[in-house]
Amino acid sequence: MKISLLPEEVFSRIAAGEVVERPLSVVKEAVENSLDGGATEIKVSLFEGGKMRIVVEDNGRGIPFDELPLAAAPHATSKLRTIEELEAVSSLGFRGEALASISAVSRFELRSRAEGEESGGLLKIEGGKQVLHTPIPCRPGTRLSVEDLFYNLPARRKFLKSSAAESRRVFSFLREMAVAYPEVAFSEESDGKKGFSSSGKGSREDVLRLLWGGEGKIRRCDTASAHLSLESWFMPCPGRARSTAVTFVNGRSVNDPLLRGATGSLCRTLVGNWVFFFTLPADLLDVNIHPAKWEIRFRYPGEVYDTVQQAVLTLSGSAPSLAPGDFFPDKGRGAGHGGVFKGGRPYPSERAGRDEGESLFGRVSSPPLSLEEGERKEDSPFPESSGGEIRFLGQIASGYLLFETEEGVALMDPHAAHERIGYERGQKLSKDSLTLSRCALPLPVPPSLSLAVSGHRQALEDIGFSFSSEEGSLLLEGYPSLPGGLGEDPLRLLRSVLTEWTEDRTAPLEEVLWKRLATAACGLSVKLTTRLSPSEALALWRSLQLCEAPWTCPHGRPTVLALDSGKLQSFFGRE
Ligand code: ADP
Ligand code: MG
Repeated sequence: MKISLLPEEVFSRIAAGEVVERPLSVVKEAVENSLDGGATEIKVSLFEGGKMRIVVEDNGRGIPFDELPLAAAPHATSKLRTIEELEAVSSLGFRGEALASISAVSRFELRSRAEGEESGGLLKIEGGKQVLHTPIPCRPGTRLSVEDLFYNLPARRKFLKSSAAESRRVFSFLREMAVAYPEVAFSEESDGKKGFSSSGKGSREDVLRLLWGGEGKIRRCDTASAHLSLESWFMPCPGRARSTAVTFVNGRSVNDPLLRGATGSLCRTLVGNWVFFFTLPADLLDVNIHPAKWEIRFRYPGEVYDTVQQAVLTLSGSAPSLAPGDFFPDKGRGAGHGGVFKGGRPYPSERAGRDEGESLFGRVSSPPLSLEEGERKEDSPFPESSGGEIRFLGQIASGYLLFETEEGVALMDPHAAHERIGYERGQKLSKDSLTLSRCALPLPVPPSLSLAVSGHRQALEDIGFSFSSEEGSLLLEGYPSLPGGLGEDPLRLLRSVLTEWTEDRTAPLEEVLWKRLATAACGLSVKLTTRLSPSEALALWRSLQLCEAPWTCPHGRPTVLALDSGKLQSFFGRE
């Protein structure tokens, strides 16, 4: 066959197939539009599981009469103008594709009355062809009605499940959205019968109680890493075989392999219902990888695992505050013991025994010092006490970290401290200092990395990477790291080591890895403005304690300002 351009009709149905898979896709896109449109009430009605009709109504800002045809045109959106805006998308929609796709494969009706307008408009489209655009009286807000989904795409229609199964998918999505947006009143109706509804009064716990039953103990915790924060909710369900986990990222319901990997492996020992809300700056997230926007890409995927792990440990009551091996092994364990992943999946219970019952901001004992006091090359602001207890109080707005020490308080410059740690580590490193860290990261698509990994899997496992296969795709479960590899991204490490090695086969793989890690150790830098989680701050403190010259950075600036009780007493005139 000769190459020729596809007729628009064929092209638009192919494109629609990427966005609209089943009734759930229609409801997801419509609800996202309602939320972007500022709705506080959203009602979803299904007839025959959405196969016959789907209606989504809201009380949002509405669409002006003249703009109705454009709303359903391909690549038409009110949410994005420039390529720069695509770098940091803050609305749920942005592709301008949903209504065009839905209307190409159904009998589609959009009624809307925009804010401040006296009357509204009606737009009808059948199989992508506009059949009516007329003014009509209607309520403020928007009402989308989709009939006979895939009537003109029989191949797709055949794959729809029973009405009950399709409704289940839609309504479980809707309930998740009600949890994510407790300030919005959601309601559902199936074949004319009312179902679940949320009040829209704004309490997430109330919505969860409604969904999970009032009796169970619902727990919440908040954790954070350098670039993201995580709000986690959990209710134990001891009798059940497995956990369920739902994840939202910046208010977006996602079903992402990275998140599935992390929550799947971490939540399975603590059986119950889990909901995770990740929040991070929009520019650290790529939401434009999947036409239906179910998947996303994190700039720092390693932090996802860390924050979920902290949350699971906190909610299981096993005291997360700091697992020393995560950032640097204490001397008692040394490389090859503490923080080393010996195979199998990481279980919270494995960690539980290592840290004794401390809360997130609780006290932790400092590890033994690397040097005798006498060997110190400079004066310590903590003459007698470097091995004592330390409590992280917080990071002040200017970026300094505030600690309570046994003597008083101390302020640390995280950048200067990290420079000192990196500098000494770079000087002292030997290959023996490698440890293995754990993670659960699916290798990203396109599959070039997975293919390269499969080809050299044995060689990679010999130097400390470990993988498992899950549903035909590879999961990175462990990677070699240096103690204290703050901010290192395991996937980037894997990719760069492999690329460097395969491009220039002169050095052994181990050598390539080694050089890469050593460079990272010296070059990595925490900025004063970097927001650190409590565990990172404590790890920084402890790593600094292990330095030979902890109290200045390599350029001679101080790392820590200590105010002991003597200084405090005299300042306040109490002596
Ligand atoms: P996107 O959401 O990516 O912009 P859509 O095809 O989903 O693309 O919608 C196209 C446009 O129609 C939106 O940008 C918005 O301006 C308008 N729109 C759609 N649904 C609604 C709604 N429920 N309330 C207000 N405006 C809406
Ligand atoms: Mg949309």
